Amino acid sequence: MKEKNAAKKWYSWYFEFNLLYRILIGLVLGVVLGLVLKEKILWIQPLGDLFVRLLKMIMMPIILSTLIVGASSVSPANLGKVGLRVIVLYLLTSAAAVLLGLGMGAVFRPSAELTGAAEAAGKAAQAPKLSQTLLNIVPTSIMQVIVNETILAVIFVALLVGLGISYLRVSGDERKEKAAATLYNFFDGIAEVMMLIIKGIMQYAPIGVLSLVSVVFATNGPKVVGSLGVVTLACFVGYALHIIIVYLGLVKFYAKLPIGRYFRDAKDPFITAFVTRSSNGTLPVTMEAAESLGVPKDIYSFSLPLGATINMDGTAIYQGVCATFIALSVWGHGFSLSQMGLIIVTATLASIGTAGVPGAGAIMLLLVLDSVGLKVEAGSLVAGAYAMILGIDALLDMGRTALNVSGDLAVTTIVARRMKELDQSKWNEGDI
Ligand code: ASP
Repeated sequence: MKEKNAAKKWYSWYFEFNLLYRILIGLVLGVVLGLVLKEKILWIQPLGDLFVRLLKMIMMPIILSTLIVGASSVSPANLGKVGLRVIVLYLLTSAAAVLLGLGMGAVFRPSAELTGAAEAAGKAAQAPKLSQTLLNIVPTSIMQVIVNETILAVIFVALLVGLGISYLRVSGDERKEKAAATLYNFFDGIAEVMMLIIKGIMQYAPIGVLSLVSVVFATNGPKVVGSLGVVTLACFVGYALHIIIVYLGLVKFYAKLPIGRYFRDAKDPFITAFVTRSSNGTLPVTMEAAESLGVPKDIYSFSLPLGATINMDGTAIYQGVCATFIALSVWGHGFSLSQMGLIIVTATLASIGTAGVPGAGAIMLLLVLDSVGLKVEAGSLVAGAYAMILGIDALLDMGRTALNVSGDLAVTTIVARRMKELDQSKWNEGDI
């Protein structure tokens, strides 16, 4: 018995220490270990892969259950108003983000001189077709999309089911109301269990992050400084500008809220997203922040899970910058105006279709490249340039995920404020 207590004490410090600090320490240690130990640290990779697998495992049930509960928590009368505002703001900010990404590409003009070696590094990769991506939103079999993890189709189904429950709950027919309440409680139960599981997974995040980051720095350390350094810089300047101009601008001038007070709560999901590289993984933290900002549960339980999947401004900026990098490296010149238009449309749609898990944006980049004729085929220059980007994807993913998540929270807060639903008791007179 005594021994058991001693064993408990041995690891309990880990759980008692603030999770955010633990993850940050994992991040810094990862950078240091990667740079110092180089390939000697590569054995650690499975620990990072485990973290990504855990997040991917939880993604589908968490999106399905939280969205059904979210959509059925909003009263039918309100759903149209909330849903429309949230979706319009999500789309507008994403389109602005792609434009900013292309702008950053034009300013920084990142490009690489591609050699045969870089060419060979590229592997064949299949880009999803745009029309098919859109059509696939409506599934032919509900069970199949859940099994195949077709994210947009799952969102579509979840919203329909949620809407159905929300209507039946106030239908006036006692039997139907009871049935709807049972279903609501069922999905609510699943959502709560999923939240609990994801909180458990996050306890592993410090180790996962350490491993993922150390592998990136071990394999790319010095390279990140060269042409890829310019890509990284262009992305991060874009991320920063988008936060300042779009989000802080919208929060301050459109929603007229004190920015300092807003950031006090918004920083936790921001940092968590930065280090975990997963919008879905960050969902519980984002929800807590929305709660502290005074957003009513029926708004955030709908808009945050939705935003974690369909609103990806960081991913959109990244796609604008990386598409420019690849065009400059392969063609030697940037995009025409019509190509830019095409990229804005595809990248906005691609960011909607990107799952909120690490690395998903890099897959959707294929769709954007394909739309302007930059096909990633085995041995091609495009594949070489794409492979270079993939090498530093983890780094770019940190910034873009932080931005994706802060966008969800900002839009949610702004919509609540504009609908006069924000709990003002959480905001003080003297807040700046
Ligand atoms: N990791 C991002 C997210 O979870 C998606 C991406 O890879 O762009 O929001």
